[in-house]
Amino acid sequence: MVIHTFGHHRTYEMEALLKLFRPAERFTFSELPEPPAEDEFFSAVLLPEPDGRQQLICRTALTNGSRISEKCLPADIPNNLLDREISGLLYPQLCDLTGLRPKWGMLTGIRPVNLLRKFAERTGSVEQAKDDFRHIWHVTEEKTQLAADILAVQQPILDAAPKNGVGIYLSVPFCPTRCKYCSFVSNSVAQMGRLIPEYMARLDTEMQLIRGIVDEFGLRIDTVYIGGGTPTTFDEADLWQLLEWIDDDLLLAAPDGSGVRRCTPLREYTVEAGRPDTITREKLQLMRQFGVTRISVNPQSFQDHVLKAAGRPHTAQDAVDKFLLAREMGFDNINMDFIAGLPADTVQGFRESIDRAVSLDPESITVHCLALKKAADFYQSLAMPDAEAVSEMVGYAYKTLTAAGYRPYYLYRQKNMAANLENVGYAKPGFESPYNVMMMDDSQTILGIGAGASTKVLGGKRGIERLTECKYPYDYLARFDELMQEKERQLRELLSGIASR
Ligand code: SF4
Repeated sequence: MVIHTFGHHRTYEMEALLKLFRPAERFTFSELPEPPAEDEFFSAVLLPEPDGRQQLICRTALTNGSRISEKCLPADIPNNLLDREISGLLYPQLCDLTGLRPKWGMLTGIRPVNLLRKFAERTGSVEQAKDDFRHIWHVTEEKTQLAADILAVQQPILDAAPKNGVGIYLSVPFCPTRCKYCSFVSNSVAQMGRLIPEYMARLDTEMQLIRGIVDEFGLRIDTVYIGGGTPTTFDEADLWQLLEWIDDDLLLAAPDGSGVRRCTPLREYTVEAGRPDTITREKLQLMRQFGVTRISVNPQSFQDHVLKAAGRPHTAQDAVDKFLLAREMGFDNINMDFIAGLPADTVQGFRESIDRAVSLDPESITVHCLALKKAADFYQSLAMPDAEAVSEMVGYAYKTLTAAGYRPYYLYRQKNMAANLENVGYAKPGFESPYNVMMMDDSQTILGIGAGASTKVLGGKRGIERLTECKYPYDYLARFDELMQEKERQLRELLSGIASR
C-alpha cells in the first residue's frame, strides 16, 4: 500500500495511523503532486488557497472502495494540529472501509495515560479530558475509563517523588538463550557471554561517572531498576560483584552492622529475574543481602506447550517453584509478567495462566500483548495472533485481576502490538512500581547505564531530552571512551542549562 503526501511531511504520523488498521503491512511512499496509480493508497495533500489558507484533501483507496474528505485550514497551522486534522479526516475513512474500530481510537502514541493527564491539565478537568478522548480521538468508553483509573492510581506516586529525584536504569543485555518473540536488545550467553567480564568492568566505570554527575548537580537517586536482558543470567560471583559495585560506586552504601547492606533511601530497587531458569537460591540470597526490594519472576504463560513454542527452556512448574523459593527467601514484592497472544496459546489457556498466577498471589502482575517487531524470530514465520482472541484475553485479565484486588497502575502501547491493545501493569495497593510509573509518564529524569539503556532528561528546552543510545554490548565496549565522553558532555550541558533557569 502506498502512503501519499504532498505539501507537508507528516508521513510518519500517517503511517502510525494506518498501522492501527494494517499492523503487519509494509508501506511504500510517494510525494508526487498526483495521487498514486496503485489500487490501494492512503493520501493527504495540502494545497495553498488564493486567500492564504490551505486546503487539506484526504483520500483512502482500498480494494473495496475509496473515500475522500476535505477541510480548509489556516496557513500557519502547527504540526501537532495538522496531524490531528489529517487523522480526523482519514480515521473515519479507514473505519468505514475496513469495518474496524480500534479501541484506542486514533491515538497512536505509546502513552495514552500521559496524554489524558496533559488534556486534564490543559482543560482543568479530568471529565473534560475524558470527553475529548471519546469524542475527538474516538477512544472507546472502556479504554477511556481504564486510562482515567490509572491516572488516579498514579497521582500519589507522582506526588511522592522527591525533588531532584532521578531513576537509574542499568542494563544487563544478556540472557541464557533468546526467546523467539524477543524484540529487546538481548544477547544469548552462547553467542556473547565472553563479553560479560569486560562489560561488567565498563558498567562500573559508567556507574562512577553517573555518581559524579548525580553529586555535581545535587540529584537524588530515587529508584534503581536493573533490567535487560535478564540480569540473573550472571552467575553468583558476577551478580555479587555487580551488586557490590552498585552499592559502592552508585549508591555509596555502607554496611550497617546488621548484615544487610542499606542503600541510600530508595523508593524501589528492582532486579528483573525474569527467566526462571536463571534463578537460584544463592542469587536470591544475594539480592536480599544487597537490599533489592522488588524482583520480577516471569512465567509469560503457564502452558508448557506455549513456553516451548516461544523458545523458553523452562516449564510452568519451574516458574512456580522459583516464585515460591523467592517467597521463602523473604521477597514480599514480586511481579509476574504474562503475554497475551503468544502463538499456540488459546483464550482458555491464557485464562488458566492468569488464574494460576492469581492463586500464587504475587504483588503485581503485568499483562503484555505480543508485539511483533522485525527483530523477533516469530516475525518471519508466524501470523499475527487473532485480534479478537487477544482482546478477549486482555479483557479476562482485567476482570479477573481487578476482582482479585489488583489495580491497573501503568500502561503503554507499542508498535505492531497484537490487536492494537496495550501492556498493563496491575498491582495490589501500595505495590505499584514507582520506577514504572515515573518512567512511563515521562515524569522523572532516567539515567541509563550500559548498552541498550536509554537516558532521558526532564526540564530541557524541549521538555524531555533523550540522549544518544548505544544499543549493542560489542559496540558499547568498542567505543566506550568516546561514548562516555559524549554522554558526560551531553549530561553536563543539559543539566547545567536546567540548573541555570
Ligand atoms: S528473557 Fe526477555 S530479554 Fe531475554 S530473550 Fe527472553 S524476551 Fe528477550
